[in-house]
Amino acid sequence: STVTVAMLARVMNVKLAQLLTRMRRVGLESEANYDYILSADYAALLAEEFGFNPVVDDEAAFDIYPPKPLDDLSTSPSRPPIVTIMGHVDHGKTTLLDTLRSASVAKGEAGGITQHIGAFSVPVASQTADSTGPRSITFLDTPGHAAFSAMRARGANVTDIIVLVVAADDGIMPQTKEVIDLLKRDDSQVDLVVAINKIDKPSADPDSVKKALMAEGIQLEDFGGDIPAVHVSGLTGKGLPELVETLSTVAEVRDLRAEQDGPVFGHVLESNVLKGLGSVATVLIRQGCLKIGSHIISGTAPGKVRRMTDPSGKPVQVALPGMAITVSGWKTLPKAGDEVLDGSESDIKKAIANRLRRGVAEALQEDVEAINEARKQERDARADGEDVVEPVPASGPKELRLVIKADVSGSCEALEGALQGIGNHIAISKIISTGVGDITESDILMAKAANATIVGFSVSAPRAMMSLAAQNEVPLTTGNVIYRLMDDVRSRIIDMLPKTI
Ligand code: GDP
Repeated sequence: STVTVAMLARVMNVKLAQLLTRMRRVGLESEANYDYILSADYAALLAEEFGFNPVVDDEAAFDIYPPKPLDDLSTSPSRPPIVTIMGHVDHGKTTLLDTLRSASVAKGEAGGITQHIGAFSVPVASQTADSTGPRSITFLDTPGHAAFSAMRARGANVTDIIVLVVAADDGIMPQTKEVIDLLKRDDSQVDLVVAINKIDKPSADPDSVKKALMAEGIQLEDFGGDIPAVHVSGLTGKGLPELVETLSTVAEVRDLRAEQDGPVFGHVLESNVLKGLGSVATVLIRQGCLKIGSHIISGTAPGKVRRMTDPSGKPVQVALPGMAITVSGWKTLPKAGDEVLDGSESDIKKAIANRLRRGVAEALQEDVEAINEARKQERDARADGEDVVEPVPASGPKELRLVIKADVSGSCEALEGALQGIGNHIAISKIISTGVGDITESDILMAKAANATIVGFSVSAPRAMMSLAAQNEVPLTTGNVIYRLMDDVRSRIIDMLPKTI
C-alpha cells in the first residue's frame, strides 16, 4: 500500500510545506512534491518524525483468491463441456450459434425466448440414464468478445472444445489458419471438432476442404487421425444433431469433472445494467456451486446473489460447474472476463476495500509517472534553450472542485480516496463535499456556488436534476465504475492545463 505526500499531510494534519521540508531533511529527492508516492514504510517513517505511532496495516494485503484446482478429480461429479465456435468471418459461426440456440430453446420450456447472455446450453438428446456422457453442452457465444481476451490474457482457459467452422465452398482462410495456429500453440487441453459448414450449397466441396485441413496438419478421422469432422448447414440445421453428438462423445472421452463442494470460482462472460434488476452478469461457473444469498466478489464489484436464471430465462436456485447463469444482486457492475469468487460478507468487504485501494495506488502511480515524464520533457526543453513558460503559478495549482455523491457511505469513501488529489502542480482535484444519496437540487446549487463539478457513483440523476445542472452550467458526471469516473476527472484536469507546455 502507498500514499501520496498530500494525503499523508492531510491525515497527519500538518502543512504540506512542513512535510516536504522534513522529507528533504531526511534525504528524500528534492524533486518530491505533493504528488509524490510514498511506500508504506517510508510514510510510516515520516509519520514517526511527526510524533505519530503509525501501524502499517497488514490486512491491506488481504484478498480472496481462486481455489487451487484439485490434482485428482476422478471422484468429483461430471460437468457439461464448454464449447467455443471459431472460424473465418462469414463462414457461418453466428448462423450456426443461432440455430443451435433456438433448437435448445424449443426443447426447453421457458416460452421460447432467446436471450443473448453470452452462453447457452444444448441438451444431449441421446443420453441414457446409465451413460457417463454429458447431459448438456454449454456453448459460449461471444467469441472475439472482450471477455475472451481478458480471460486469455490471464491464462484462463475456459474452453474444453473448439468447433472450427470452415465453409465448404470457401476452404481455409486467414482466420481459419489463426485458429489452427492457436490450437497448435495451445499447451492446454483443448479438443478440436471441425464443422464443415454450408454443406447445402451446390458449390460445397467438403473433400477438398478436408484435404486442405490435412495439409495444415489437422489429423482428421477420415484419414486415420483422431479429429472428427462433421458436415453441417447452419442455415438448414442439417448435421447439427450429429455435431452435438460428436461434441458429447469427445466430452465423454475427456471425462470432464469439477468439484461442487468448496469455494465458488467462475468467470464473468457479459455484464450490463437491466431495468428493475440493476447490475446483472452472466457467470460461467467453473468450480463449486453458487447459491441464492451467497456473497460474491468480481474485480471490485461486491454482490449478494439475489436471483439466478439459466440461458432460457428459468430461475435457478443452485448453479453448478459448467453452467452459465445470469446473476443479479451486484452492488456495482462487474467486468467481462473478471473472476467470480465467493466468501464471507466481511472477507468480501475487506477484499473490495483493498482492491480499490490498490487500484487507486496504481492509477496514482500512473499519474505520477506521466507527471514526472512531463517535467523531464520540460527540463530537457529548457536545457535546449527553448523559451519555456514557467508552468508553476504563483498562487498554487488551479483546482478542479468536486462534489461527490454515492449510493452508500462505503463507496463514497472509496470514491473520495480515488478522486482526491488527481492532477499535478498546475491543476489538481479537490473534494469540497461528499454525501450519500441521489443528486438533489441543493447539490447543484452548492456546486454552482463553489464552481464545482458533481461526480455521482451508483446514484441516479433524475432528468429534472440533469436539466437544472445544465441550466446552471454545473458539470455533472455519473457512473458505476470508479475507474471511468477517475478517467473523467483526469481528463477534466488535463483540460485545465495550459496548452503550451
Ligand atoms: P460469421 O461471420 O462466421 O458469423 O458468418 P454468418 O453466420 O454471419 O454467415 C455469413 C453468411 O453465410 C450469411 O449470409 C449466412 O446466411 C450465410 N450462411 C451461414 N451458414 C450457412 C449455411 O449453412 N448455408 C448457406 N447456404 N449459407 C450460410
